[in-house]
Amino acid sequence: MLTLCAATTNPGKLRDFSVAAAEGEVAVEPLPGLKEIPAPDENEPTFAGNARLKAEHYSRFTNELVLADDSGLEVDALNGQPGVRSARFAEDAGYESPAATPALSTDARNNLYLLDRMRDIPNRTARYHCVLALARNGSVLVTTDGSVDGEILDAPRGTGGFGYDPLFWLPQLGLTMAEITREEKHALSHRGRAFRALLAELPSILR
Ligand code: IMP
Repeated sequence: MLTLCAATTNPGKLRDFSVAAAEGEVAVEPLPGLKEIPAPDENEPTFAGNARLKAEHYSRFTNELVLADDSGLEVDALNGQPGVRSARFAEDAGYESPAATPALSTDARNNLYLLDRMRDIPNRTARYHCVLALARNGSVLVTTDGSVDGEILDAPRGTGGFGYDPLFWLPQLGLTMAEITREEKHALSHRGRAFRALLAELPSILR
């Protein structure tokens, strides 16, 4: 079976990919030795730019097919922020939660900061966006993207998923992204959509 090596150490993304792989068409495994490879600066202004940059970079260290994901949350009332800076939203702002404890995770800090920025803002519409890039030996073979619309709650709900999922409300389901199963997330999420688009491209790329 074809194996794609995911160039990410983000456990949430890896869990999402494992569901994608469980559908059986390809295997998705963490890129061997990823932690020893120096990480590139993700300084592009777009998801596509960063996904390409990561895929090109990591694929220079292996002969495997390398899959890179750049993704994030775009909040309309914040003019699309945090966008490509989603992983570093609170850090960029130097945000410390009122009840700061050293044990607060990056995700928890980002969520608290998002709630802070969204306080008293009535327009809660937002979307997740994901760009996947597949590369081999330093060349990008294809990029695909996917998105999903939702709304930002004013308090977290659910314990599944990762990142902003407990605040990301799916109006059509009446649940947050952290309250649905991994399979349901894969069926409707930005990452699941981008992954299915990638699978559809594989036959023509790898001919
Ligand atoms: P990246 O590693 O630079 O692509 O940053 C991705 C960041 O976007 C994550 O750290 C999360 O904060 C956010 N994000 C991306 N995808 C998801 C998702 O599926 N659920 C929740 N947060 C996500």
